[in-house]
Amino acid sequence: MNYHQYYPVDVVNGPGTRCTLFVSGCVHQCPGCYNKSTWRLNSGLLFTQEMEDLIVANLQDTLIPRQGLSLSGGDPLHPQNLQAINQLLRRVVSECPGKNVWMWTGYRREDLTGEQQETLARVNVLIDGKYVQSLRDPSLIWRGSSNQVVHYLR
Ligand code: SF4
Repeated sequence: MNYHQYYPVDVVNGPGTRCTLFVSGCVHQCPGCYNKSTWRLNSGLLFTQEMEDLIVANLQDTLIPRQGLSLSGGDPLHPQNLQAINQLLRRVVSECPGKNVWMWTGYRREDLTGEQQETLARVNVLIDGKYVQSLRDPSLIWRGSSNQVVHYLR
C-alpha cells in the first residue's frame, strides 16, 4: 500500500484529536474530488513497517492523547489496500485499547465484498458512498454530499 499524507495530530478528520492517514488508490473517480492526486495506487509513498510502528506509537502517546485513528484517501477499502489496512487495524485493536477507528470509503456499505466487510470488523465508524457534487452540502458533518452515510458500527 502507498499513502499520501499522515497527520500525527489532527483535529479535522473525525472527533477529537486523532491520527489521520490518507492512503493511495481509488477507483471511484467522483467529479469534484478534492483528492484526485490519490487515485493512482502507486502514487505517494510506500507505507512501510516504520510508518505502521509510528502510527501505533502515536496512538499510544500519553502526552498528546488521541481519540483514535482516521483512515481516508484515496480509498482504504480499495482491494489492494486491504492487507496493509487489516494488518494496521489488528495492531490498533490489540495494542491501542480504547482508541476508535473512523474510515471514509467511496464504496457503499451494501456493495462491499466479503473481504471488505471483514475489514469493517475493526472499524467503529464508516462514512460511505461516492462524493456527488450535485448533493454537496457544506452544513453536513463528516461528509461532503448528502448521499453519503455515517454508519456508527460499534
Ligand atoms: S471516493 Fe473520495 S477519493 Fe475517491 S474519487 Fe471519490 S471523493 Fe475522490
